Formats: sequence, C-alpha cells, structure tokens
Amino acid sequence: MLRRVFVANRGEIALRVIAACLDEGIETVLGASEADRVGRAARMADRVVCIGPAPASRSYLDQSAVIAAAIGTGCDAVHPGYGFLSESASFAEACEAAGLTFIGPAGATIRAMGDKIRARAVAAEAGLPVVPGTSEVGSVEQASRWAESVGYPVMLKAAAGGGGRGIKVARSRDELERFLPLATAEVGSAFGDARLYLEKYVERARHLEVQILADSHGRTIHVGCRDCSLQRRYQKLIEEAPPYLPLLPDGSMVLEEMCAHATRLAEAVDYRGAGTVEFILDQHTGDHYFLEMNTRIQVEHPVTEELYGVDLVAEQLRIASGEPLGLRQEDLVERGHVIECRITAEAQDADFAPSPGVVAEWSIPSGKGIRVDTHCESGQSVPVFYDSLLAKLVVSGRDRPHALRRMRRALSEFEVTGVETTIAYLRDLLQDPIVVGGTHDTKYVEGGPAT
Ligand code: ADP
Ligand code: ADP
Ligand code: MG
Repeated sequence: MLRRVFVANRGEIALRVIAACLDEGIETVLGASEADRVGRAARMADRVVCIGPAPASRSYLDQSAVIAAAIGTGCDAVHPGYGFLSESASFAEACEAAGLTFIGPAGATIRAMGDKIRARAVAAEAGLPVVPGTSEVGSVEQASRWAESVGYPVMLKAAAGGGGRGIKVARSRDELERFLPLATAEVGSAFGDARLYLEKYVERARHLEVQILADSHGRTIHVGCRDCSLQRRYQKLIEEAPPYLPLLPDGSMVLEEMCAHATRLAEAVDYRGAGTVEFILDQHTGDHYFLEMNTRIQVEHPVTEELYGVDLVAEQLRIASGEPLGLRQEDLVERGHVIECRITAEAQDADFAPSPGVVAEWSIPSGKGIRVDTHCESGQSVPVFYDSLLAKLVVSGRDRPHALRRMRRALSEFEVTGVETTIAYLRDLLQDPIVVGGTHDTKYVEGGPAT
C-alpha cells in the first residue's frame, strides 16, 4: 500500500484527496503555492510544503518544483487531482523516473488520449462511433472544402484542448474563414499547441460520459453514465445521474452501448486508474459519438460516488498501490438520483466574470442526502490566480423530482457573502420547466432553441 501521498493540487480536490488518504490510513503532504499555505486542506494534511509563488505557472504547473518537494518530503506517490499537471504525460513520466508512483494511467496512455486528434483515431480503431471530423487543419481552403462536404455548422476544436477552451462553432464559410486564425492564436497561447481540427456540429445534443475504473491486473469496469448537458461556454454547470432522457426513442439501448464502448476503449489503451469517456448524444435519434477521454479524476466524480455508494479516489489509491479492483461490475447498483451543482465565485450581472475576494459569511446546507465538497470557510480568500470553483453541492434523492426539490432547498440554505456566487442563478435554472422536463440540450443555458 502507498505510505505517503503528495497532493499536487489545491481547492476542493486537494481536500477530497487528503480525506480519502486519511480514510485509507495514508499520510499526506500538501504542495501549496504561497497563496494556499493556510486553509482547510493545509490544516488537514500531515505536512504542507510551499512549491512556489501564487501564479500556477510557477507553482502547481512547475513539474520540477513538485517532484523535488515530493521527494524531499519522503512521499512515494503523487496525486495530481484534475487540471494543472493531471493530464501531463511528461509529468507522469518524470514522476515514475524519480521513483514516485503517479496516481493515474501511464504516460503513453495520457499522451494518446491528450491529443484529441489521435484519441479520435484510437477510438475509431477500437470500434467506437466518432463524430465526422478531420485530422489537423491545414489551410482555410481545405477546411472549408471539408465543411461543405459534411455541411455546416462545424466545430473548431483544439487538439490539445480542455476546459472548453478554444471551441468555436462556424455556421458558414464566412465564419469558418474568420474563426480559424482567431482560434489558432487563442489555442496556441492557451495550450502551447496551435493545432486545430474540425468536427461536424451535433445540434441539440446532450453531453453524456462514462466513468471507468481499471486496475493494473487487466480488469476494467464502468461505473455508469453521467449527464453533463447543462453547460455555459462549453463548461459544465450541473451534472446528474442516471441520465434522464425523455426524448430518446423508445427501446433505445444507448446508455448500455455507451458503457460498453467506454469499457472497450479503456481496454484498448491499457487504461489504468479512474478515467472518463465523454460522448455527445443526439437525443432525438439515440446516436452517440465519442468526444474525448479525460485521463484523471473528473470534477463531477461525486455524482457517481453517491449514486453507486463507491469512493472513486480510494479506488485510485488502491489501483496505484497495485491492488486489484475492490469492485465487481455486477456489484454496482445505482440508487435513486443524484445532482451536482458547481458553485463558483462569479458575478452573474457581469457576464459571469470571476469574483475574487474574501468570503465573509459561509453557511452550507446539511441533512440527509446532502454532500458539500469544498475547501471554503468563513474568512477564506478567493485568489485571482485560479479557477473560481468554491464548492460542489451534491444532492441525492429517491428519484429525479425528489432530488430536484432537495437541490432547490439546499441552494436556498446555502449562504455566502463577500464574493459573488452562482447560487441564485443555479436555483433559477433548476426551476426552469425545460430543465425540469429534461428536454434541454448543451446550448439551452446560453439561449439555444429548446427542443
Ligand atoms: P471536467 O469535465 O472534469 O469539468 P474540465 O475540462 O472542465 O473537466 O477541467 C476541469 C478543471 O480543470 C477546470 O475547471 C479547470 O480548472 C482545469 N483545467 C482544465 N484544463 C486545464 C488546462 N489546460 N490547464 C489548467 N487547468 C485546466
Ligand atoms: P473539452 O476538452 O474542452 O472538454 P470536449 O470535446 O469535451 O472539449 O467538448 C466540450 C463541449 O463542447 C461538449 O461537452 C459539448 O457541449 C460541446 N461539443 C464538443 N464537440 C461537439 C460536437 N461535435 N457537436 C456538438 N457539441 C460539441
Ligand atoms: Mg470534455
């Protein structure tokens, strides 16, 4: 078993990883930037070391600083959380080369899936349906010829993309010609890799994804599907499971097919650890297409944990210790319905711009069926340097209407002052008749047509 884990992240996921380690009897060292040296995660870890100044490029993204700190504190493994170095193949390899267990898949797997053009090819090879698309876009002429052959709208995406960044929809040749140079510049500076590709844009779609767990003894299982269709700017706001899809044709087996496809892809790339295979679903036809694989723990993993009564981070730790999976496919039974809201420090009135500052009052909901994953407390500073996620509110109910009512109640109980939050906005969204009815799509929040 692992003895001491270095937590190479911050915010709620750092706390989540430390909690799982404590529960499993593993020591933790938190690698914190100068901005994160105090707070709940720092108090809960056995030890805290500073890995650099507040800007992530000089701390949480500084591979050698992280590895030196992990070695210097006698750790035997590194948990990268999500974001930051979690999907860096070179970091995973550097950890292993330094004698540290990287809690995640092999560097080669991260590399294959992290390049989204290559991932599409691997998925197609493994027999998964893939959205019609291109390899790397060369010239504008080539791109518009392809777009005309499949028909507009098309989507411009970054080969190295993540977090919805760089994504643009082009509805005409004119838009494609205008967006290509813009996207190339934006993506180049965001990811240090300007390669773009095109996909046919699937209208009025849903985003579904399958949770995967695989051990190092060749066993792979899936832990069901999550629906993450409520998005703004291609970023998830609310996730739920099991998916509720009233528009699907009767008798559709798409969820079962998706789970089988995700498992097959994980097996094809020798996957190890927790991962997520994302799909886009045409909810009118039931056709589904592979989008990407995220080779890490996902922000919304608690939805699956609550639905199935599993601890995915503890499973990551077990797998990294070389133990066989503790769960069997046939033992996994979903219970009720689970919804997660991402509560961020953003100002609704200012087009959801980040609202950094200091949290004054912090009062969270509680009671049966309510889980709050957060690093915040009263007096917590919300620095400008990082993601604006304050908390994940996860609510379980006996069925979807019950979970929706409980979530609205919990959001009403949630009181935060000092920074602007999305709490009231999320409560309104969960009263919207289209959302309650389950016929929304990935564009609905931004005012797309209701289906
Ligand atoms: P999820 O489906 O788990 O929400 P995202 O792609 O939205 O996955 O990424 C999760 C989080 O990771 C984001 O909220 C963001 O903070 C961070 N993140 C994503 N991509 C990057 C990146 N390239 N660099 C740094 N952080 C990132
Ligand atoms: P990222 O790596 O940024 O998470 P994804 O490929 O997962 O990128 O896409 C993010 C979101 O963009 C999806 O959840 C979906 O809403 C939308 N999207 C991506 N590809 C398509 C597509 N071909 N058609 C329609 N929507 C898409
Ligand atoms: Mg994605």
